[in-house]
Amino acid sequence: GGGVPVISVKNVTVRFGGIVALDGVEFDIHDGEILGLIGPNGAGKTTLFNCLSRLYTPNEGDVQLHGKTILDQPAHRIAGMGIGRTFQNVASFSNLSVRDNIRVGAHSASKSDPVSDALRLPWVRKGGEAIDANVNELIGWLELEDVADLPVAGLPFGTQKRVELARALATDPKLLLLDEPAGGLNHDEVHELGSLIRKVRDERGVTVLLVEHHMALVMSVSDRVVVMNFGRKIAEGTPEEVQKNPEVVAAYLGGG
Ligand code: ATP
Repeated sequence: GGGVPVISVKNVTVRFGGIVALDGVEFDIHDGEILGLIGPNGAGKTTLFNCLSRLYTPNEGDVQLHGKTILDQPAHRIAGMGIGRTFQNVASFSNLSVRDNIRVGAHSASKSDPVSDALRLPWVRKGGEAIDANVNELIGWLELEDVADLPVAGLPFGTQKRVELARALATDPKLLLLDEPAGGLNHDEVHELGSLIRKVRDERGVTVLLVEHHMALVMSVSDRVVVMNFGRKIAEGTPEEVQKNPEVVAAYLGGG
């Protein structure tokens, strides 16, 4: 749609020594959109993801949230600005309950220091009641009631992934960055994940960037897809458009 994009990636270049991991990458993510980001191994997807979550600062270019640069903000402020993320590997505190893990997520968006807040859990609950209501709502919405008070460690992998999602959503993000969420999931779980990603957008109004190798998932849930290869954007369009783009076909069939 029109209006100021949720995210503008503007001419972003990232170098690691002599390696150019990102080379002048540009695209926008619009409000309410699910944008898929794909590309062969080493294409620069993770590097771009890390720029959006402020773990990396580009050598050139800008990343803007609602038209304002985020490059002047430290990484720990990003959640409070409305950018949530999940990690490629499940990063929950495995000995904490599902509920406490989601609480940690909720605290990470507070204006105070998320790490010290998290370490004080569950004895000190800043913003206590509001956070508890938010956490309970998410537990219900993600159908985690039955496991809410169990440690994450013993839960099925698909459930652990839902806890990760809940933790990211607990910051009440405008934009959710999903880093290869289908990794390690079986066929049925990937299908459920696809429905869930759409539900996150449809019911919670969250804009989504999906970095993913699972093509069937990306093509079925994304409104638009950005394709990268060797640090450059090589295509952008609807799933249908990019799938018939010769350069995209070549990049994948070439085993790059
Ligand atoms: P994959 O699908 O395998 O996760 P990717 O598309 O995420 O790949 P990146 O991990 O962003 O690709 O890597 C892009 C390029 O930058 C690669 O050549 C990689 O070797 C290089 N690279 C990434 N991170 C670093 C780093 N911290 N130091 C040096 N080189 C790096």
